[in-house]
Amino acid sequence: MPSMLVYRGDYGQLSLEEHSHPDIGAGEVCVALDTALVCSSDLHTIFHRRTAPTPLVLGHETVSVIDRIGDGGPTTDMQGIPLRTGDRVVWAVVASCGACGTCSRGWPQKCPGALKYGHVRLSSQEKWMGGFADYQVLKPGTSILRVPEHVPSRIAATIGCSTATVCAVLEAAGDIRDKIVLINGAGQLGMQAAIMAKSGGAKQVICLEAQPQRRTDAKRMGFVTIAPESMALMLTDATAGEPIDIYLELAGHVSDFSMLMQHLGVGSTIVFAGAVFPSPALPLDMETVIRKCITIKGIHNYRPEHLVRALAFASAHCHALSEFLTFGSLLPLREHAAVVQAGESGAFHRVGFTSG
Ligand SMILES: [Zn+2]
Ligand SMILES: [Zn+2]
Repeated sequence: MPSMLVYRGDYGQLSLEEHSHPDIGAGEVCVALDTALVCSSDLHTIFHRRTAPTPLVLGHETVSVIDRIGDGGPTTDMQGIPLRTGDRVVWAVVASCGACGTCSRGWPQKCPGALKYGHVRLSSQEKWMGGFADYQVLKPGTSILRVPEHVPSRIAATIGCSTATVCAVLEAAGDIRDKIVLINGAGQLGMQAAIMAKSGGAKQVICLEAQPQRRTDAKRMGFVTIAPESMALMLTDATAGEPIDIYLELAGHVSDFSMLMQHLGVGSTIVFAGAVFPSPALPLDMETVIRKCITIKGIHNYRPEHLVRALAFASAHCHALSEFLTFGSLLPLREHAAVVQAGESGAFHRVGFTSG
């Protein structure tokens, strides 16, 4: 019988449960697990740093293989490529209605009727909605993309969460060419943003990161790195005294926001995307925002077109991403205790589950 890992609200615990093979309705697609990565947000839930409805099958950084397509289900992906049984696919984390006011205003990820994979309470109606399972059932309204053969599964699995989110963040940041970009956080999100900013023509990309190993990894990829405690001393040197044009907050916390604001230039843009859990309030000096004409934006999740851009980015840069991203345990579902422990250790960008 197929298995799923269920989070029932117990600290640090998932349990392996067997259920009968999923039934699919009209327009749905049943996909079988290839690789499901454990996102930081999954760990935040498992270790009670944020709340979630339980019982729950977590996991939303997934690449799977089409098992069956229900009657009237999609025959092509978002780019018009035919979809068939056996195809490797990724999909948008949110399935939205496409018709409500929120969807039509361009925020389908915030659709009040949206279903979010890896975030839906387990019930008899909504059973196969999370990545840490042998199967998932994709609902109508899900943006699906076929993955080119040369993209490794572990890189493909990042497309539907961190890579597409970074595409939305970079879009919010505006024109990146010849800009000085400061990225707070050199984890998976931060490094994908750094690689994307550099390939998009940024003049300089600087990474702020507290973890020494992550700074070493970012340096190896050719980025200037600064520890938060050295920011006062090193930021002016790193930019040769020039102001920062774009500040991407991807870590979820800022050590000295007031000082950062001093380094921002006229017309600069701040994008907040890291704090997807309760975080301390920032000291925001309104006069500085006004006098420097600073734009501040928040980004959560992404629209379907960002998924298309994410696939194109992962496809073009899979070598650099494979070189940089560190993967710890990628094991079958039954090895969940080891995978969760390795994820929580913070020693790797991602750990995860594979079929088998
Ligand atoms: Zn995620
Ligand atoms: Zn809607």
